[in-house]
Amino acid sequence: MARSKKQSRSAPAAPGAGGGPVRVGLVADAHYADKADRKDRCYRWSLPKVQQAVEHFSRTGVDFVVEVGDLIDSGASIDEETGLARRINKELRVFKGDRHYVLGNHCVSLLTKNEFLRACDGGDPYYAFDHKGVCFIILDACYRPDEQPYGRNNFDWREACIPRAECEWLSGALDRTRSKAIVFIHQRVDVGDDYGLANGQVVRDILERSGKVSAVIQGHYHPGDYRKIGPIHYITLSAMVTGPGLDSNAYAILEVRPDGSADLAGFGRQKSYTLE
Ligand SMILES: [Zn+2]
Repeated sequence: MARSKKQSRSAPAAPGAGGGPVRVGLVADAHYADKADRKDRCYRWSLPKVQQAVEHFSRTGVDFVVEVGDLIDSGASIDEETGLARRINKELRVFKGDRHYVLGNHCVSLLTKNEFLRACDGGDPYYAFDHKGVCFIILDACYRPDEQPYGRNNFDWREACIPRAECEWLSGALDRTRSKAIVFIHQRVDVGDDYGLANGQVVRDILERSGKVSAVIQGHYHPGDYRKIGPIHYITLSAMVTGPGLDSNAYAILEVRPDGSADLAGFGRQKSYTLE
């Protein structure tokens, strides 16, 4: 998490629980880079698109913002990618509240996780926190199936997993919370194809067994998608980078209540969903 000093991996419940639903501003797959469009990926447009989303979040009031991964696209060098991350993050920093960064494969293809998170003043790669009686969990699936962390172009984007240690931490975090939980992750937990985790079934079992997770918010698959498996809703957000102009923007505001029910209001190309 940005803004506070150091986020512990299991923060205590925020004071003042109650009141209205938690409102979360969501941005996924901005892929910002200072380079020409490639097919429908319009990299430079992500700067004004993030500005528009942040302005909307600030004007209507959200409790915090979650950036769901692939904030940047690839550059020619470590320095260039660090510059891209700082540049796009300058727009996110306009939001005067907490910001949470989910690692995406493009964030940590050349850069290491620490390098990317430092450039965005982000926190740990994965952690949990409570807000107004809801538990929020940020996961990091940027690992090869042999559990080596992504970085320095050492991986194939079609191979991602959550290592055993992080799975154990996830079970523990869900055991400890007494709240309903929302999970954020870049890669998909709900499919077994190129976009899904190598150990998606293991992770789904952990989430379902807890009985506490109402929704998983994902990115990575640019068209976006929705699936329900067992009691859990899996929303794949549409990529912000797709298409030129602000008319093709895509971002969302999630409203979650302590009973786990939620509404996702989509803007631009992002669809809206009601999660019972
Ligand atoms: Zn992406």
